[in-house]
Amino acid sequence: MARTDAIVLGAGIVGASAALHLVKRGLSVALVDRRGPGEETSYGNAGIIEGNTLFAHAFPNGLEALLKIALKQSPEANYHLAALPGLVPWLLQYRANTRGARAMDFVKAMRPLYARAVAEHEALMAEAGAARYLRKSGWLKIYWSDASFAATARERELAAELGLSRRALTPDETRALEPSLAPVFAHAVHWPEAASVSNPAAVTKAYVDLFTKLGGLVLNGDARTLRRSGEFWRVDNDEGPVDARIAVVALGPWAPDLLGPLGIRLPLAVKRGYHRHYKAQGNAALSRPIVDTDYGYCLAPMEQGMRLTTGAEFAGRDAAPTPVQIDRVLPAAKALFPLGDGVEAQPWMGSRPCFSDSRPVIGPAPGHPGLWLDYGHAHWGLTLGPASGRLLAEMITGAATFCDPKPYSADRFAS
Ligand SMILES: Cc1cc2nc3c(=O)[nH]c(=O)nc-3n(C[C@H](O)[C@H](O)[C@H](O)COP(=O)(O)OP(=O)(O)OC[C@H]3O[C@@H](n4cnc5c(N)ncnc54)[C@H](O)[C@@H]3O)c2cc1C
Repeated sequence: MARTDAIVLGAGIVGASAALHLVKRGLSVALVDRRGPGEETSYGNAGIIEGNTLFAHAFPNGLEALLKIALKQSPEANYHLAALPGLVPWLLQYRANTRGARAMDFVKAMRPLYARAVAEHEALMAEAGAARYLRKSGWLKIYWSDASFAATARERELAAELGLSRRALTPDETRALEPSLAPVFAHAVHWPEAASVSNPAAVTKAYVDLFTKLGGLVLNGDARTLRRSGEFWRVDNDEGPVDARIAVVALGPWAPDLLGPLGIRLPLAVKRGYHRHYKAQGNAALSRPIVDTDYGYCLAPMEQGMRLTTGAEFAGRDAAPTPVQIDRVLPAAKALFPLGDGVEAQPWMGSRPCFSDSRPVIGPAPGHPGLWLDYGHAHWGLTLGPASGRLLAEMITGAATFCDPKPYSADRFAS
């Protein structure tokens, strides 16, 4: 039977980053997954390291927007009727948390993590030999109308107050940055402090390779076998059980499968999302991801092609895929950029693990000594994986933390 100082469960970007930060601090660490590193949610995201993020994604405002979603005509959101009754309490909490003063609570709580996002990735990429995936060219948000641009003015005002760089651009100025975009939009904003990657799964794999090089163990096993064994946590894997005093749950959308039976029930839901790659016509290209705020999709240049990603789908995590949003946004995406044939026959689907206040949980599991939580990174798991991993490793090793971990505590849901 193997024994390590720590077991990290889940080798997505969040678990890989946590395992790497622990091993870099001298702990012996086993990283356990039932698949290869970065093959689930961390495979298919839009690759944006959103260091500039201020507000959480707002709950739709106004009758017209809600009606459009209800009638399944909204490009940015879809739902399965069967999932709605179970989601109502979470949706009401989510709605309250994205309004008024609470929207600012998110900004204040999350700024220290976002502010570290790009630098933490850059440091790990340099060490892991993965810098070739990084583009420090920011991202562009585009707006088709004066009204949709004006509706997001608060974000830009707050960015100015906090000293975050952003540049509002005319269509011509935008096309100077991205000549392949058609001038179908009215405004754009360039956020230069964000970064992006050309292959999110390869970045996670590179971090796991570095982890192995530094002495970390990668094991194939089912995290749900985690159990107490005296003063240790034990998990089964292909090479027999492994024990450690410390276990970290970094299972993203699957964390409740393990935590529920342990009696830890936190308000996590999933926002499913899809992607499909398309060939670019002729020499058309993009140097950075483009987010179309009116139609709720992102177009991100990837090694596999132009990755078109969709907004949120509220459905059971394991329910059959219904990639209708790809079809809803495709005409707008094609009007914006000359997309050619699809690369894969079927879209990819993933599940963003999202707490009702959109913040992750990073810290000790209530009532279970030695058990730590690092999950629920919602729309920003790629962005925040390395910063979260650093914070968690600092907490576990008793070092000074680079920011106050209280806003990410599981205890915030106790009442
Ligand atoms: C369409 C889309 C676009 C996105 N775009 C962005 C973006 O541009 N920028 C950004 O920052 N974020 C983005 N995200 C969010 C981001 O992808 C996620 O927040 C992030 O991948 C979550 O990482 P994770 O490591 O927590 O989870 P995962 O990557 O899902 O990792 C969890 C791991 O746990 C393993 N696991 C599960 N159950 C078990 C078990 N029983 N036993 C063993 N192992 C198990 C899985 O195999 C998996 O490897 C996007 C998400 C989607 C869906």
